[in-house]
Amino acid sequence: MFSAKKNTNFRTNGLIWRTVLPVLALVVNNVSPAQAISLSQELPHRKVIVVDPGHGGHDLGAVGTSGLAEKVVTLSVAHKIKEIFFGTYEVHLTRDDDYRIDIEHRTAAANHYRADIFVSIHAGGGFGHQGRGMVIFYHGPGTGERPMSPRQQESSWKTGEKPLPWDSIQHAHRAKSKVLAKTVHRHLLVKLNPVDKGISEAPCFVLRGADMPAILVEIGHLSHPADEKELRNPEVISAAAEAICEAIREYFRKFH
Ligand SMILES: [Zn+2]
Repeated sequence: MFSAKKNTNFRTNGLIWRTVLPVLALVVNNVSPAQAISLSQELPHRKVIVVDPGHGGHDLGAVGTSGLAEKVVTLSVAHKIKEIFFGTYEVHLTRDDDYRIDIEHRTAAANHYRADIFVSIHAGGGFGHQGRGMVIFYHGPGTGERPMSPRQQESSWKTGEKPLPWDSIQHAHRAKSKVLAKTVHRHLLVKLNPVDKGISEAPCFVLRGADMPAILVEIGHLSHPADEKELRNPEVISAAAEAICEAIREYFRKFH
């Protein structure tokens, strides 16, 4: 889980990054301090992506008939995304190992890092979907999906805490979230050729408080033996991560 200490480190690292680059430019190009300041101002904003590997720790997520747990698949995909973007975009994972995080802390991490986009990875097939295949969600009251009851919403928050008006936060980003969902969907179709369940609007807790375009990617249904077999294959995991990365690059070209 991200901690207060880690948060401080992140800020420090970000500061170092912004400070070191102009100095390097000064050394390499032998330019004056004034020119270096100008270079610093011209540095492009490095896009920040927060990737959320679903489940973790005692929360296994879905478990396939031959024992593959969703928490393992989601972490593998997230690690691969981080590896692919190394040196280009700034990628943070809500968890980088096998431990549990509360849903609200996952979203809070995305807001804390001021992410440009938030991608939650799953492979269990929730929200009432049966069978197998891939589906990409963005947050909203739902189209054919069953919205959560007020009681369910209450129970998602710790005792004593009142629900926050988080729905309105993601609402402002819904149009771009939908574009991101469509882009990721298109690239996953090309790379994986999965059983396609399309994109869907649904009340996803993990997305609702995100103050940036945000999607939830169900890359398969571990509960289905054929999907479980696919998701055991490291090449499939790599292809899924590459497709998501390709889609993110395209999205940033559109909304830079
Ligand atoms: Zn899941």
